[in-house]
Amino acid sequence: MIETSYKKRLEQVKTFLNNNDAKLISHYYVDSEIQRLTEDTGGCVADSLQMAKFGTQQKEKNLIIAGVRFMGETAKILNPEKNIYVLDKDATCSLDDSCEVNSFKQFCEKYPNREIVVYANTSAEVKAISDWVVTSSIAIPLVENLASRGKKIIWAPDKYLGSYIQDQTGIDMIMWDGACIVHEEYKTIELKKLIEELGDCEVLVHPESPRSIIQLADVVGSTTKLINASKISKSKNIIVATEKGIFYQMKKLSPNKNFIEAPTEGEGATCKSCGRCPWMHLNTFDKLMSVINQKNEINLNEKTIVHAKKSINRMVEFEDKYYQKNKRAS
Ligand code: SF4
Repeated sequence: MIETSYKKRLEQVKTFLNNNDAKLISHYYVDSEIQRLTEDTGGCVADSLQMAKFGTQQKEKNLIIAGVRFMGETAKILNPEKNIYVLDKDATCSLDDSCEVNSFKQFCEKYPNREIVVYANTSAEVKAISDWVVTSSIAIPLVENLASRGKKIIWAPDKYLGSYIQDQTGIDMIMWDGACIVHEEYKTIELKKLIEELGDCEVLVHPESPRSIIQLADVVGSTTKLINASKISKSKNIIVATEKGIFYQMKKLSPNKNFIEAPTEGEGATCKSCGRCPWMHLNTFDKLMSVINQKNEINLNEKTIVHAKKSINRMVEFEDKYYQKNKRAS
């Protein structure tokens, strides 16, 4: 019955995308049905930068982004000639929201000799006033490279990811005070108990989590790194400390493993997210079927696109060189 209704929806989405010359691109954190519809219509499910890069390789005029607003903006920055639509413009991110551009500008002006490095989870305007945009997968090598050239940095907006990078690299960083409401909720004592109870388990943690959670991890890394780690892990039980939409990809790769959410405060308590991003959750099938309209289109001014693109492209060039060098070395 569920499969019949999925097949019906898939046909509807295929027709909709064909009729509108559109491609669907989704983040790992959206609901499994949207991820599945994306894959089955030839789209891509990935992290925010890979989503935008995938968009540059598509012939379709319209790109539909299932994720949060800054992901739509990044897609627009890298694909300014295309029309970019998000399923819900109210789908924001606590990291992006914490870092309003004028306050951030004033903050940066206090430290004029530092490189401004911002995480992908920021608005296009914040990216445009920064020197570098980074994703969690390339943040450490890039910051290490800056440190080796004697640079000091301003880091925004995620204080936890910033502390993790600082712990790993020892670089001098001034930190903006932002956090992800999902990762901030993981509970250390409860996680320790769960690890003890399970015995045979592996703990995968995204570095947007607090230091005390990271200290309990077997693997720390970006969404892509955690998905790969879940696949190669020898443990039957995998505890995951990141948004639970990612379980869809992990279960697909390892159907016989048990994937367990890292403990939060628990539903009904004071938990703000309980392992679920409220904004990712706004991406629904119904919204997808009516997404092509002005209300959902991402528009950015040209100057913002040019400046933000410069900061993203610097990272992309660094990333390409870094992986080429490491491929040669391995
Ligand atoms: S999971 Fe956290 S970082 Fe990701 S979009 Fe939601 S609030 Fe932002």
